[in-house]
Amino acid sequence: MDQSKLNGGYIFDIQGFSVHDGPGCRTLIFLKGCPLRCLWCSNPEGIRPFPEPLYKETKCLFDLYCLQACPHKAITLIGDKDTPRLQFDREKCSRCVTYDCVSACLTGALAKGGYYITTEDLYDRIKRDRQYWGEKGGITLTGGEPFAQPEFASALLKRCYEAFIHTAVETCGDIPWKNIEPSLPWLEWIFFDLKHIDAASHKELTSSTNSLILENARQLAGKFEGRLVFRLPLVPGLNDSDENIRATAGFILSTGRNELNILPVHHLGREKYQLAGIVYKLPGFEMTPREKLVEIQNRFTSLGITCYLGSETPF
Ligand code: SF4
Ligand code: SF4
Repeated sequence: MDQSKLNGGYIFDIQGFSVHDGPGCRTLIFLKGCPLRCLWCSNPEGIRPFPEPLYKETKCLFDLYCLQACPHKAITLIGDKDTPRLQFDREKCSRCVTYDCVSACLTGALAKGGYYITTEDLYDRIKRDRQYWGEKGGITLTGGEPFAQPEFASALLKRCYEAFIHTAVETCGDIPWKNIEPSLPWLEWIFFDLKHIDAASHKELTSSTNSLILENARQLAGKFEGRLVFRLPLVPGLNDSDENIRATAGFILSTGRNELNILPVHHLGREKYQLAGIVYKLPGFEMTPREKLVEIQNRFTSLGITCYLGSETPF
């Protein structure tokens, strides 16, 4: 559907009381759809652009009520009688509006992942949190990739900005500039991911090269008047080499900005992959120990970067 004809968009969650994604206490709004396929994505249910069935096999009785209820024949029973499995045709599900499968399931094995909401209804919902935000808090759009729904993102940000609500966004940056630009007048803060400076390595980690990302980062650094904090999701052995640290620091300084937030990657999103029918491909690794994180932070500092570690942000 042409997003410009909608007066709302697709989201998959709203979370209050966040203290890690911008200043103060914040409400996070998770928008559907992302152009990247990062190996460590902790919100795989946000990758596809439209709502989708989320299927929890451990709750399934294989009574097939869902299969009989689906008007589009999008569910197939596969496997044998000892190891039955349900397979969803997610292409068909992306066009579904009824979600009869979810209503038919009596065990809670099926849920609807994501929903459409108008900008005004969403604004009415999030402003209820206002009393918890304090002086510095507000909203942060995340996802998914918020700028994948550019009209929705800019309309919501404008609505909030004009109501004196602090506005922030977390972006992967791999999105046309024309999607980003309309939101800039209504934004006070941007977190911008730099997952790897080397193009080939970036592609290995995210399925996409980084030329558009770096170009957007340069444009934003020059044109955006608010606070721009780069983010490095740190994966041991994949992007924590000294070479990438030096290249990342050099790139940030070349844009005229100097803030970086390191986020150690974890496996906490792994459980959700099965729900969305996506294969989890991140190899096993030990979480980076704190001493090593501090070492990396100090290395960035020595290179001229103001570096924040994990959630220890002075926002
Ligand atoms: S989401 Fe719609 S198309 Fe997909 S299985 Fe459920 S009822 Fe069928
Ligand atoms: S209706 Fe629910 S419990 Fe029954 S087969 Fe479908 S998902 Fe499983």
